[in-house]
Amino acid sequence: MVRVTEFGEVVRYDIARDIAGRGRYWTTCYRVGSTLIDSGCSHAAVEFLRVLDGHPVDRILHTHCHEDHIGGSGALVRQRGSVDVVAHPECVAVLGDPRKRQPLHPYRRVMWGWPERVPSRALGDGDVVDAGPYRFQLLHTPGHSSDHLCFLEPERGWLFSGDLYVGGRDRALRSDGDVWASAASLRRLAGLQLRQLFPGAARVPDDARQALAGKVEYYDELADQIGRMHRSGYSIGAIASKVCGGPMLIEAVTLGHFSRRNLVRSVVRGLG
Ligand SMILES: [Zn+2]
Repeated sequence: MVRVTEFGEVVRYDIARDIAGRGRYWTTCYRVGSTLIDSGCSHAAVEFLRVLDGHPVDRILHTHCHEDHIGGSGALVRQRGSVDVVAHPECVAVLGDPRKRQPLHPYRRVMWGWPERVPSRALGDGDVVDAGPYRFQLLHTPGHSSDHLCFLEPERGWLFSGDLYVGGRDRALRSDGDVWASAASLRRLAGLQLRQLFPGAARVPDDARQALAGKVEYYDELADQIGRMHRSGYSIGAIASKVCGGPMLIEAVTLGHFSRRNLVRSVVRGLG
């Protein structure tokens, strides 16, 4: 299932596997001219190709290696032939051999599916990709994943934030997520001159800088609250219930790969 929304020159694609006529576990990618930022999941790749019909695609910039962001690239590169695929060096390794480099939990295979191998080239923080009338500056922004990049179009004040920023308040985290690194990356982004923020999921916020600053503030409060409880001797589980609320369906579906406890653990690890 693919939904298309236009924000002036930026086209947003919300993509999900179609199960019984309903989209499940949505992911988001964007097109600016002939540049794609991420490519959705492999379960929806055929439909995404149809939606892209008639639009040139010269390059794909990947925010990070998760399968719901790289899964459409293989089919696209096979169909179009010459497409320049750019990613962080760690993501390039995954793109080269996803099954070996990024084994998927069962829930990830069901929701998004295995990506295909895709040849790509590595760039990193500070590099710039010229894309016709657009320029994309790469910002290494670890936290959600260690290979995470955001893409800044400085002249227009656009920021493509991938999964680093996907809305206001996190109640859970992947087991490999790092809240402290996310907060540091968001702090860096909050200092940029931005007009519009395009996240890798969730809605496009009305005020980009306010959204980023609000998220940083939320992480600060979270660290403060968790730190106080941890020093008072509360268990990880007790802190998770108090700070993040009651059990979440996603914790059961992912067998704990995405959970409130992971969020608390990540904060506690960085308390020193
Ligand atoms: Zn992700």
